[in-house]
Amino acid sequence: MSVRRFTAMLAAGCLLATAGAAVAQGSNGSTYPVRPVTMIVPFAAGGPTDVVARIVSDHMSRTLGQQIVIENVVGAGGTTGSTRAKRASADGYTIIMGHMGTHAAAVPLYPNLAYDPSVDFEPVGLAAGTPILILARKDYPAKDLAEFAEHVKKNAATLNMAHAGVGSVSYTTCLLLNSILDVKPTAVPYNGTGPAMNALVGGQVDYMCDQIVNVVSQVQGGSIRAYAIATAERNPALPDVPTTKEAGLPEYSVSAWNAVFAPKGTPQPILDKLSEALDKALTDETTRKRLLDLGSDLPEGDRRGQKALASLVRSEVDRWSRVIKTAGPGN
Ligand code: ASP
Repeated sequence: MSVRRFTAMLAAGCLLATAGAAVAQGSNGSTYPVRPVTMIVPFAAGGPTDVVARIVSDHMSRTLGQQIVIENVVGAGGTTGSTRAKRASADGYTIIMGHMGTHAAAVPLYPNLAYDPSVDFEPVGLAAGTPILILARKDYPAKDLAEFAEHVKKNAATLNMAHAGVGSVSYTTCLLLNSILDVKPTAVPYNGTGPAMNALVGGQVDYMCDQIVNVVSQVQGGSIRAYAIATAERNPALPDVPTTKEAGLPEYSVSAWNAVFAPKGTPQPILDKLSEALDKALTDETTRKRLLDLGSDLPEGDRRGQKALASLVRSEVDRWSRVIKTAGPGN
């Protein structure tokens, strides 16, 4: 065989292989997914984002007929994992469980953020609303929120506040609390509120603001104190914890959310399959119970889906830009 003929055959073979791979990957959505899908969790294992991701992806995997594999990519308040997701191939095989921090509050906090949540991601859908609680180590010397606020105001210089990195939910929501109380404690960063919670339980840090899904068993078991929940109503998962309004700090009203995104340019048929799988998960009784038992607020009706998430991201970026302008960048 001549060298020229051999080269031509090789080139044709490569073309066929490439075309085959495209079909196998189901870029038109018809066969997608043909292999496992990676869901990036931009925080440490065991924290709220990880927990919501594992619960939701468990059911989504069954609908999709392929495993969703969780990959924890930590750092910089969730922006490292989000940047990785932004740069991934837009083929439906990499998606991310983002949240109110990574896909909204990080924008005003990082002037050089490598992504714009509204532009560089395709919204798949909201997975869960997650109320925020004011928490402290179990021996914190305050019996209620009023005493806590007074004690923090007097002793901020010696107090340690745990958070999951600049831009994370725990960071931004405590930034808001600290600005209301007009205090600047020492902020101690962790790779997620999973490890931050261990530090709070161990008494190495004094207080933290966190998403409810990370705290229910610790509060019930008495290994930490919960002074208030920052929602209008008490939460059925922790009915004894008063609202911030009941506890005398109504201006502290804040909650967070977790949502699934795909890199910009992911084909619409693939996005639709992912959104449908998420929707099915949120309709499934077992999945709902698992999320509700952890205190989540489940998105219903038109709060679900791609459009709802796109407008939530826009309004949350605006809201947090305003909050951070007023509260300052903290420390
Ligand atoms: N939600 C993050 C986590 O899963 C932490 C945070 O944003 O505060 O650890």
